[in-house]
Amino acid sequence: MKIMKKAAVLVAAGALLLTGCSADKGDNEEAGPKPEAVEFEAGTTMAKLQDAGKITVGTKFDQPLFGLKGLDSPEGFDIEIAKIVAAELGLDPEKDIEWVETVSANREPFIENGKVDIVVATYTINDTRKEVISFAGPYYIAGQDLLVLAGTDDVKGIDDVLDKTVCSVTGSTSLENLKTEGVKDTMATETYSNCLEPLRAGKAAAVSTDNVILAGLADQNPGEFEVVENPFTEEPYGIGLKKDDEEFRNFINDTLEKAYDDGRWAKAWENTAGVVLSTPTPPAVERY
Ligand code: GLU
Repeated sequence: MKIMKKAAVLVAAGALLLTGCSADKGDNEEAGPKPEAVEFEAGTTMAKLQDAGKITVGTKFDQPLFGLKGLDSPEGFDIEIAKIVAAELGLDPEKDIEWVETVSANREPFIENGKVDIVVATYTINDTRKEVISFAGPYYIAGQDLLVLAGTDDVKGIDDVLDKTVCSVTGSTSLENLKTEGVKDTMATETYSNCLEPLRAGKAAAVSTDNVILAGLADQNPGEFEVVENPFTEEPYGIGLKKDDEEFRNFINDTLEKAYDDGRWAKAWENTAGVVLSTPTPPAVERY
């Protein structure tokens, strides 16, 4: 469902347009048909996952547009990205993915201790995280913003909340960025959806994280909240994997580039986040 788009948010990947419409499910065909069995070199993570016939993916379960789980399998752009990777491994994206909920703070530990094979979860690539895990991507670039109660007219950007209470999430870049920006009173919880009650109750003046997460929360609660639309950081989203698994990292990067070229990435976007946000240009993957 596409309807009128109303306001612009600029991020590095291009201009996003937010609308007030509700997300629908998309057709879930982005990952495409199961490809012919590809031969991977023995001993590689790709060969191991193909032999196992399964990949375990850590993702968010409470973030509309990117990773949201109701009674069925999770849905969203991150979910479709994981399905594209699974399909490229010769797995069935609808049957061979085990979804594990990751919150912001447990993503690195879940990768390090092998609880998940990859994390696709609005996961910003940064040097601190690269000390313990590796990233493929980026496959999208978000920007940190603020969510306020609808009708709030005295918050136009981060400078307007430096002396107020701002809610965010433990283990996220968002919370760290708030401190760097000089926000004096931060409220930390486990998930962004947990910040909505304090915002409703006036215990927090704003919720802060990536604009696309906030857009999803606003879309899920029509008329209640507004994204300020004045992003103050760049958040390149990567796919987390075991540190220094160079072959697997290159494989995922190659997969992303293929998906950019053959339209699977754009289709994944349009059927999920694209219901609310305009289609960005895919960012160049990092080859380090
Ligand atoms: N992208 C930021 C991060 O990885 C904020 C969103 C999140 O916590 O998932 O920390």
